[in-house]
Amino acid sequence: MNDTLRERWERLRERVDDACRAARRDPGEVTVLPVSKTFGPDVIQQTAEDLGWRRFGENKVQEIRDKAMALEETGPEIDWVMIGHLQTNKAGVVARLATEVQSLDRPKLAAALDRNLRAQGRTLDVLVQVKTSDEPSKYGLDPEQLLPFLEVLAGYPTLRVRGLMTLAINTSEADAVRGCFRRLRQLRDAAAAHGHDLPRLSMGMSGDFPLAIAEGATEVRIGTAIFGARPYPDSYYWPEASDGRGGTP
Ligand SMILES: *Cc1c(COP(=O)(O)O)cnc(C)c1O
Repeated sequence: MNDTLRERWERLRERVDDACRAARRDPGEVTVLPVSKTFGPDVIQQTAEDLGWRRFGENKVQEIRDKAMALEETGPEIDWVMIGHLQTNKAGVVARLATEVQSLDRPKLAAALDRNLRAQGRTLDVLVQVKTSDEPSKYGLDPEQLLPFLEVLAGYPTLRVRGLMTLAINTSEADAVRGCFRRLRQLRDAAAAHGHDLPRLSMGMSGDFPLAIAEGATEVRIGTAIFGARPYPDSYYWPEASDGRGGTP
């Protein structure tokens, strides 16, 4: 395989382990979700074969559909994890092709996923995406809505709520970034006090994962640090990206 990719992966995993140790955490507690957006099915097939990966994060339904189709015949079985903003009218495709959604952020979407999952006799693991910064372009549930939303989700047996997800504010100020991650952990703890068991915290990306690990991330979503720079500017495929990540189209 591409040696650079394997080297990048090994270096990244070392940095994740270092961040765990610095936070006095067991490295076995933190998994890495490879984010393969904009990279083609060939890259996914290679990494699946050479590194044994099965789970890949994508932020566009269209990309999941295209890649799943390309790998359908000869490719490995892939668990697609939706991490990007999800339009309600695309819930059917996600219900059919994904194994997990980390960007569940509103009741209408939950209802649409449930309806489609029932029709297909499937279930999904879900994380609730919470907005932990005041950046206007960010998707995610308002933190005040978390408890009522969790009550709504309890009525949908097709959706297995496993935890919370967030995107930190896009700034070079570490304190502000870390504050977002801390907020997500505190929201998780507050929900636990109300009887909601949310073991997973998906937070941290290539540029900020050590801060997320310090605040209790159980999963970091890593694209660039593994796959290299993406072929398109972020604004092209990531509408929720705020200015520093490419602007909102
Ligand atoms: C692209 C993306 C990531 C990974 O970003 P990198 O900075 O390339 O590691 C993480 N989370 C979401 C929601 C993304 O869209």
